[in-house]
Amino acid sequence: MTGWLRVVGLGPGDAAMQTPQATDALAAATDLIGYMTYLDRVPPRPGQARHASDNRVELDRARHALTLAAGGARVAVVSSGDAGVFAMASAVFEALEAGPPEWRTLDVQVVPGISAMFAAAARLGAPLGHDFCAISLSDNLKPWPVVLHRLTTVAAAGFTIALYNAASRARPWQLGAALDALRPILPGCTPIVFATAVSRPEEAITLATLADADPACADMRTLVLIGTAATRLIDRPGQRPWIYAPRSHPPAAP
Ligand code: SAH
Repeated sequence: MTGWLRVVGLGPGDAAMQTPQATDALAAATDLIGYMTYLDRVPPRPGQARHASDNRVELDRARHALTLAAGGARVAVVSSGDAGVFAMASAVFEALEAGPPEWRTLDVQVVPGISAMFAAAARLGAPLGHDFCAISLSDNLKPWPVVLHRLTTVAAAGFTIALYNAASRARPWQLGAALDALRPILPGCTPIVFATAVSRPEEAITLATLADADPACADMRTLVLIGTAATRLIDRPGQRPWIYAPRSHPPAAP
């Protein structure tokens, strides 16, 4: 048997947002590897081995996957959203680069998925329609001063920001500190959106401004979107306003 490795993005939660290519890779795998919460989203198949692990052991998980594939297994490593956005694909390549030379000849493919920022943006309108960037607020893998420097630099440069890993029980203060760092840079009326568990039954979306944003609105399932001075809101009777970024800069008059 010839082994392979697929690094599969499962999308934001709703099964309808998982690509057919991802579904096919999961169905063809002999072994599934991933954080247990994500593995729970994959329906069990008879004869398929599932290796669930804690969220913090990404490199071990990647080495395990490569070792199994080198031994002939068909291995799917799963991530939520897109596998390459703050997710397992980088861990797999880090392990592969540092690993035995024969790993470089393995059949490895990254299967893309809908990242949380795209699922959240689609719910809101088109807030990522002009220049934007994605930042992970987690200081587990980079020092906090680097996080703050990147955040304030891109905000000053006019990027819309998709903030991943905005909060968790182990990182309760970082989002408040990040918003405080942005207040001298962006107008108080800058839209801030807390998009939690997008596409899942418990989805919740809260609109705020930089002046009044409450960091307690975010948990580990929340994507925080930070607009710019150019972000537009279109009011709608009885419904959440549409939010969009004009396509041109400076924006044409509405
Ligand atoms: N690879 C994933 C991101 C993993 S990092 C992707 O491309 O989406 C984990 C972070 O992603 C969470 O802390 C949260 O900020 C965000 N996230 C993941 N799923 C989400 C969802 N359904 N709704 C909102 N944010 C989500």
